Amino acid sequence: MSDSIKGLHHITAVSGPPQENFNFYRNKLGLRFTKKTINFDDPFTYHLYYGNHNATPGSTITFFPWQNVPNGSPSTGEATIVDYAIPGGSADYWYDRLKELNIKINRQKDGFGFETISFHDNDGMKIRLVADSKSEKNETKGYGTVPDEHAVRGFFGTTLSLADTGRTAELLKEMGWSLTGEADGAARFGSAPENNLGRFVDLKKEPELNGRFGRGSIHHIAFRVPDDGAQQNWREKIKKMGFSITPVKNRDYFRSIYFREAGGVLFEIATDIPGFDVDEPFESLGEELKLPAWFEQHREEIERRLPELNTD
Ligand code: ZN
Repeated sequence: MSDSIKGLHHITAVSGPPQENFNFYRNKLGLRFTKKTINFDDPFTYHLYYGNHNATPGSTITFFPWQNVPNGSPSTGEATIVDYAIPGGSADYWYDRLKELNIKINRQKDGFGFETISFHDNDGMKIRLVADSKSEKNETKGYGTVPDEHAVRGFFGTTLSLADTGRTAELLKEMGWSLTGEADGAARFGSAPENNLGRFVDLKKEPELNGRFGRGSIHHIAFRVPDDGAQQNWREKIKKMGFSITPVKNRDYFRSIYFREAGGVLFEIATDIPGFDVDEPFESLGEELKLPAWFEQHREEIERRLPELNTD
């Protein structure tokens, strides 16, 4: 029996222009900009990474900024909310900050007993900040003008909107997650990663979301495994469950396998290793454009064709 899969590794979404994306996630949400690279399958598009200061698994959101793609809207069969963990006592700070930034927010105590603040990013993706004292042990730094003590720690979890939650629930159970409660129309599945980040996936029966994929849509969610051996075990196991799963892909900062679960959401299983300091020093993560080795010979053309992005 393989070890269970514990926690989310990263979430990947589509955004509009890269500068606006940077201004929102680094300057307003106060995340660290941890990697400036390209879409390995489409080298003239950026792939931008933001996480907590230590770029811990369970904190990274990544974006493909597709400048000319129209705004998306939530669809059945997608992840539709990104839940971020803030310290237990930080809801007042974030309420005031987001108000000052003229971001339309909705603050409420949710049915699970957590204080939450919901809003949309500048491409319409739904974000929820969840006051979660269990996330506090992840020491981090605030970027933009966010003080360290109130900085986002990483993910709390995500929400999947599904036509039917049954088979996705079964899969999560196979992966070692368990039902921790039901509230606000969602069944919450939990896992126990050592850092408490990305430990929940909420399943919501929402069969009639007729949105379209575009800016602000979540492309996939990735779960964590410690290393390649654990990933190989899970690849076999998921294949045996009848899913079609990709070979291992080297994403430079982690290795990945992908499959579409029964509800339509693209799941990835990514390794914690080697991490984001594999090709640049930890101190200067995100400062230079990093390319996978096989694209280095095209660096000049890539740099010329990528849109302007000021990350100071
Ligand atoms: Zn991914």
